[in-house]
Amino acid sequence: MSRQVQVLDQFSRPLRDLRVSVTDRCNFRCQYCMPREVFGPGFKFLPHAEVLSFEEIEVVVRVLLRLGVTKVRLTGGEPLLRRELPSLVAKLAQLPALGDLAMTTNGLLLSRFAGALAESGLHRVTVSLDSVDPGVFSEMNGVGANLQSVLDGIEAAVAAGLGPVKLNCVVRRGLNDDGIVELADFARRRGHVLRLIEYMDVGESHGWRLDEVVPSAEVIARISARWELQPVPPLYPGEVATRFRYRDGTGEVGVISSVSTPFCGGCTRLRLAADGQLHTCLFSRGGLDLRPVLRGGGGEEELASLITGLWRQRRDRYSEERSRQSEPGGPKVEMSYLGG
Ligand code: SAM
Ligand code: SF4
Ligand code: SF4
Repeated sequence: MSRQVQVLDQFSRPLRDLRVSVTDRCNFRCQYCMPREVFGPGFKFLPHAEVLSFEEIEVVVRVLLRLGVTKVRLTGGEPLLRRELPSLVAKLAQLPALGDLAMTTNGLLLSRFAGALAESGLHRVTVSLDSVDPGVFSEMNGVGANLQSVLDGIEAAVAAGLGPVKLNCVVRRGLNDDGIVELADFARRRGHVLRLIEYMDVGESHGWRLDEVVPSAEVIARISARWELQPVPPLYPGEVATRFRYRDGTGEVGVISSVSTPFCGGCTRLRLAADGQLHTCLFSRGGLDLRPVLRGGGGEEELASLITGLWRQRRDRYSEERSRQSEPGGPKVEMSYLGG
């Protein structure tokens, strides 16, 4: 197979980005992702034997780079809970054709790992930060984790050269929406790029309600009431965030409006779950299991042809069809399993 072929799905969308979930476990219990009532002490996480090894992940990424992927993001669960993560980063960072290697983390363990991750070749990190109010932060993470540890992690990432650090905030009405402007102020002062995300109905466990979603238009209205904003044109077709520049020159802020303004038309993302299932949509109800090939002696050509077939059949556009609530095929998979 020639290098960097372009594979198109049923709506002519190319394959460009890959999210790799390295674990389904997490040290937080964010209500919108892993509510404690569901992910309690009795919850059965993936057994170790079912989780892909670093060698297996490397094989899949290598194949995907040949199929057009240029950006890879490590995620979870909480990726920093995966033992020896820097050694996976080192394996992936040396692959030619990998343009961007990033990670999304809740930041709690980041001060411990930032240096090793940077040395291993990670390009940048995104840290999820829902509030800079210690009480709200502690409530939203579901385990009473301390805000300062995450702020220290962000500082450590900047110091290690993993910046500019992006901050992700899921806005939930009545919980943290009052703190948006304060969070934007924090990001502006520290030079971080803030992304405010609409609360999504991923998975089945959080009891999502539309009235808890704060539409991005409202988020932007609140921020622009404080600082003048100017829209920034997309950097590339299908850019997920809608971006705005602060007119006073203090960086930018973005919104991700998957509920109010779905962007399935430009969705070029594939997701590899920790157990080797490939999912073509965040709202997937079932994946393609790569383990039989990976563990059954199949080679890269076999994987490439399976994945090419999967992408060519892809017709996902869940967010654009959200009103059509009942879909066949069983429950949607969880965000903590798929990695956002
Ligand atoms: N544990 C890491 C973290 O929180 O950054 C990585 C995995 S987490 C599943 C990836 C991203 O998904 C986080 O930024 C998180 O805020 C976001 N997320 C989780 N549940 C969500 C939901 N229901 N709606 C929107 N974003 C969500
Ligand atoms: Fe864990 Fe991230 Fe989900 Fe929060 S959003 S529970 S930190 S996986
Ligand atoms: Fe992509 Fe699915 Fe999200 Fe649409 S709903 S943008 S197809 S992941």
